[in-house]
Amino acid sequence: MSNAPSDAPHSDNTPRLLLATKNNHKVSELRAIICPLIPGLNPEDIIGAGDYDVPEPVEDGLTFAENALIKARAYAAATGLPSLADDSGLCVDVLGGAPGIFSARWCGRHGADQENLELLLAQLADIAEEHRGAHFHCAVALVVGDREIVREGEMHGRLLFAPRGENGFGYDPIFCPEGYGVSSAELAPEHKDIISHRGAAIRTIAPAIAQELGLV
Ligand code: IMP
Repeated sequence: MSNAPSDAPHSDNTPRLLLATKNNHKVSELRAIICPLIPGLNPEDIIGAGDYDVPEPVEDGLTFAENALIKARAYAAATGLPSLADDSGLCVDVLGGAPGIFSARWCGRHGADQENLELLLAQLADIAEEHRGAHFHCAVALVVGDREIVREGEMHGRLLFAPRGENGFGYDPIFCPEGYGVSSAELAPEHKDIISHRGAAIRTIAPAIAQELGLV
């Protein structure tokens, strides 16, 4: 009998973990964060929701955690697989935490990253440097049968006056992480993962994922 963590590929083709998103960019990003944290969990063990014909649930929760749970529950129920969902957004101090859960549709249209960013910049045009504090928040939810686990992470910083950088997505070009002189769109993706809200939330939930998948 061996108690060494297995790095052999999963013996059948059944995925071990479903990521409750049809966004392939997010699937790759989450895979890259999760796999190194859990010995024995290989990229091919993690599958995106795009491979399943499950209608995307309505995200009508009032918090990031509620919305992450809505997604994870829907895919876990439809597929029977352990399902992990994340929900995140930008919270601006001077706006009382908005856009928050409305980050993806702040301009009125879902997923219009450029318009969302431009509207926010215009709204804050007269706000001085010292009042431009903001943070990204991320909730991740793991649902396995009737077990539900939620963890959260944040990345603090301030908003810039104009976009900078080509990496990332969403509000990255106008967000400067605390202690950095660049926007999060100027960071290499693997660097952003180390300091990001999503990285923090995933690192916190990783032990529970390993436990639920029987990898500890
Ligand atoms: P989601 O829940 O991760 O899909 O994020 C919802 C929205 O929040 C996105 O459409 C972005 O506008 C914003 N957002 C979340 N995380 C990030 C990030 O890491 N960088 C920039 N924008 C983000």
